[in-house]
Amino acid sequence: MKPSTAAAQQLRERGLRVTAGRLAVLRAVGTLDHPDAGLVVDVVRRQLGSVSTQAVYDTLAALTRVGLLRRIEPAGSPARYETRVGDNHHHLICRSCRRILDVDCAAGAAPCMHPSDDRGFEIDEAEVVFWGECEACRSATAVAAAG
Ligand SMILES: [Zn+2]
Ligand SMILES: [Zn+2]
Repeated sequence: MKPSTAAAQQLRERGLRVTAGRLAVLRAVGTLDHPDAGLVVDVVRRQLGSVSTQAVYDTLAALTRVGLLRRIEPAGSPARYETRVGDNHHHLICRSCRRILDVDCAAGAAPCMHPSDDRGFEIDEAEVVFWGECEACRSATAVAAAG
């Protein structure tokens, strides 16, 4: 099956009409690495020509709502999107360059962590972000310090 056919099938299964815009947004998010909406707008425009920013934002929201995209909102950054959904994976985020890497959940299914006291909540997810400095930034810092 061609990737575009698979994407069209996914849209239909979620009750969404298959449009060039939706296919282009899915493809863009799938090939980029946790892009923000602005980057998706750029890529989709390069493919389809004139597309309004609002249309791309609406499409991202609709695809997230039906579960075809996952939206993550790192503190201090615009929301990022990805097509890797439903596996409860977590993210490593570099404080210096802001790159985001996927890391599998050690427990597997959500919620992978439980609070000491659930205060009566029925917990369905624990959002885990590991903040730190990535390998590239660490070696750049080391080189600068040595020089
Ligand atoms: Zn970094
Ligand atoms: Zn991810």
